[in-house]
Amino acid sequence: MDYLRKKYRILLISIILVIGLIISGVVYFVLIDLEEAYHEYAKDSIMDVKKGYLKDTVNNIIDGIEQKNENQVIYHQHLAEDMIGIFDNYYLADSEGFLYYAKQYMQQEAKKIDFTFLIINSQNNEVVFQYIPSLEDENIISTEYINHLSSELPVYTSKLYGNYKTVIGVSQDVIDSRVKNALYNEIHGLKFEDNAYVWVNEIVNYAGGDDYAIRRIHPNLKDTEGIYLSTNMTDVMGTTPYKTELEGVKQYGELFFQYYFKKLNSDTISEKITYAKLYKDFDWIIAMGVHLDDIQEYVDKTTQDKSQQVRRLLIILSSIVIVIIIIALVVVHHLERWYYGNFNKTLIEESLKDPLTNTYNRRAAYKYLATSWANFKSVGLNAKIMMIDIDNFKKVNDSCGHSVGDQVLIKLADTINSHIRSNDFLSRWGGEEFLLICNGLKKEDVEAFTVKLLNAIEKMQFECEEAKKFNITVSIGVSDFYDSDDQFSIAVNRADMALYKAKAAGKNTFVVLEEATEN
Ligand code: GH3
Ligand code: MG
Ligand code: MG
Repeated sequence: MDYLRKKYRILLISIILVIGLIISGVVYFVLIDLEEAYHEYAKDSIMDVKKGYLKDTVNNIIDGIEQKNENQVIYHQHLAEDMIGIFDNYYLADSEGFLYYAKQYMQQEAKKIDFTFLIINSQNNEVVFQYIPSLEDENIISTEYINHLSSELPVYTSKLYGNYKTVIGVSQDVIDSRVKNALYNEIHGLKFEDNAYVWVNEIVNYAGGDDYAIRRIHPNLKDTEGIYLSTNMTDVMGTTPYKTELEGVKQYGELFFQYYFKKLNSDTISEKITYAKLYKDFDWIIAMGVHLDDIQEYVDKTTQDKSQQVRRLLIILSSIVIVIIIIALVVVHHLERWYYGNFNKTLIEESLKDPLTNTYNRRAAYKYLATSWANFKSVGLNAKIMMIDIDNFKKVNDSCGHSVGDQVLIKLADTINSHIRSNDFLSRWGGEEFLLICNGLKKEDVEAFTVKLLNAIEKMQFECEEAKKFNITVSIGVSDFYDSDDQFSIAVNRADMALYKAKAAGKNTFVVLEEATEN
């Protein structure tokens, strides 16, 4: 029994531990999965933000080009107007010497700023002075060319001084070079997070190949500004980023792409993501990139807090699971003990009861006798031991059948039980014999008690199958412990002997064997 109990207990504990382990495992993996998913999500989000940032920055620079162009036009327009003011003064002061001074001024200024200057004799349309930056001085220009200039040049002012018409203008090329210069300074001065920077390559051959472009602006590699680039150039992983870039801008005007490149202010080469866009007017590819390991650092920093939270949650959940396991183990232990205790109690009770009459059996009687004997021996508390046997019971069985006999035994036990006290003890000693132990029944009351019992039993009515009524009687042998007894069975035998005597005396009577009587 104990072996089985131990086995079930180990099985239960194992099941609880396994369930606990499974729950912990599931919780652990779910949380780790969640953390990873969050990390990936954070990385993607940050990547999207960075990409948006790269794109916006490049597009802002491109938007700024138009503004710079306009500013340069306005600025040069003002300069041209200032010059007209100077010419006005020359003309006012000396109309004869105007041509001389105007020419001299133009020759000096022309060297400084790339203005287009013309002085034309309006009488004969002869060009008296010409300075056109893109043209060789000696080239003869036609009237159509002069007329064409007024629509061609973004800055154009013309005024007639007597016979001389002056033209002051600035070509788009000059404006462009000023804008490019401003961009060069601006881009070199830009500072971004994560060591990001903007650079510019100018395409000279859209077909690609060696010398397809010139590196114009590159804050990371200033020394290399002006070098020619090749679409055949490969990065450390063997890819051709310039080719990818050229193909991309040719096809879509803009693109995102990844490749390996040297990091800013370091010799480390790492993967970077770049946005590049073509500004067709300059044939410039304006690009901005950021190294992925710099983003990773940022992602790690951002997700660190979440990882800590997940770890904390993991500890809390594990503790909860452990507590649940401990509670489950304690509950199971107690339940099992309670159940086992109850089960045992029932088992013990059943083992001491007679199933037919529901009185105690002989085993219980032995126990009870042992206790009574111990009491007698220790504190001198005696008890009356009565052996009760049905008279001529065989006849009942023979004439009415065994089952009626059984009913007689049951009813007899009930009747005896209803005549004894709660601290008395009735047991079925065997067959149709009962052992009754009456505690506290005084010597002088034995007779009254047994007579009352005999009468009550006699009055009991039974019926046979043939509707025949009958009664039963019993004989009772009474004794108690003697001081001379060395074990309780001697007293029981004496009661048995008294019973025998009662039978011999004609049955339906009682005989008492007492120490006093003996003496
Ligand atoms: P006496 O007056 O001398 O005691 O006569 P008796 O017939 O009672 O004699 P005996 O003790 O020899 O017979 C006992 C009978 O009780 C024998 C058996 O058939 C019957 N008996 C014993 N146990 C049971 C039982 O559990 N049920 C039934 N129906 N009969 C039982
Ligand atoms: Mg008998
Ligand atoms: Mg009998």
